[in-house]
Amino acid sequence: MISAVLPTYNRAPLAFTHGAGSWLTAEDGTRYLDLGAGIAVNALGHAHPALVETISAQAAKLWHVSNVYRIPEQERLAEMLVEKTFADTVFFTNSGTEAAELAIKMTRKYWTEKGDPRVEIITFAGSFHGRSTGAIAAAGSEKMVKGFGPLMPGFTHLDWADHDGLRAAITRKTAAVMIEPVQGEGGIRPVPDQCLKGLRDLCDSVGALLIFDEVQCGMGRTGRLFAHEWSGITPDIMMVAKGIGGGFPLGCVLATENAASGMTAGTHGSTYGGNPLGCAVGAKVTEIVSDDAFLAEVNRKGALFRQGLESLVASHPKVFEAVRGMGLILGLKMRLPNTDFVKAGYAAHVLTIAAADNVIRLLPALNIDDADIAEALRRLDTAASQIAA
Ligand SMILES: *Cc1c(COP(=O)(O)O)cnc(C)c1O
Repeated sequence: MISAVLPTYNRAPLAFTHGAGSWLTAEDGTRYLDLGAGIAVNALGHAHPALVETISAQAAKLWHVSNVYRIPEQERLAEMLVEKTFADTVFFTNSGTEAAELAIKMTRKYWTEKGDPRVEIITFAGSFHGRSTGAIAAAGSEKMVKGFGPLMPGFTHLDWADHDGLRAAITRKTAAVMIEPVQGEGGIRPVPDQCLKGLRDLCDSVGALLIFDEVQCGMGRTGRLFAHEWSGITPDIMMVAKGIGGGFPLGCVLATENAASGMTAGTHGSTYGGNPLGCAVGAKVTEIVSDDAFLAEVNRKGALFRQGLESLVASHPKVFEAVRGMGLILGLKMRLPNTDFVKAGYAAHVLTIAAADNVIRLLPALNIDDADIAEALRRLDTAASQIAA
């Protein structure tokens, strides 16, 4: 008989009752060191006191009002994001997928309004933009689209890092290029800064919009508020979610005034998106994560963790091939199956996340402390010894 929960996930037989910082406690009382953070969602770990205080205070005042009214908490978060980024305007969603949908709609509307109805959006193999019909068509991988056709048309899929292919594919018919500055699901693959710069130039040469999906790599994860800041260039549209809510479902699309120019009253909406509860939490997360001293710590901790991971790889050459990533969006390219390593991690009471390309993702809370990084390395070492045996 089918389980009461639709069986679309292969779940580990683990359930947690509570969490604090980088630790989760299972039903049997065992504590696990959490290096997945809900897949880059719990940016400040579990039950962060400032977030608990913020959500409790807002919950006692006002949870939800419709977007047919002004929502001051939403305006405040939008203004913070506009001040800290390239963007002139923000739309709030409840997830990354919804952000992808709007990025696609915004692009189409932009070109329609220009009287140049370009529809083609270029995307890359290994990318992930969510699970809606539009988002799976955008990513295009067999695994995600199989059985769900006919797919939404308008996407051209290129190989990742195929510079020549990209140069040939970008034309005056290209509406936009959509890319993750660091591929998450695809296996922690950062796009080199010079490639992001080249991409910006290519888009500018044909007037195409540049869309960054920073749902996983944004909100401080790379050691800058947004990953693309390292490259010095900016997109026209950016999708954000995961970390911005710290565990509350919240996402958004940031855009320049020009890119957003087609999105006038009545062209898009969301019942829950931008509600007072979500935006109060989002503003607190953004305030903490965008602080320069906090980001400097992410960089320091990322370097510390990485150094330890390099030694781990060196001491288990049959298990691991290399370390990937930057800041606290790190990966271990495996020689043995990544899913075996995730299981060995459960036995060693450390939680990691598998990604494509036989990679293990390490996406700890951005405020993980040095002692927990040291403990993480010990437990990863235990898991590695176990699968090597
Ligand atoms: C997780 C993710 C999404 C989808 O976000 P959801 O909140 O699961 O809908 C989109 N893009 C990237 C890069 C992601 O990592």
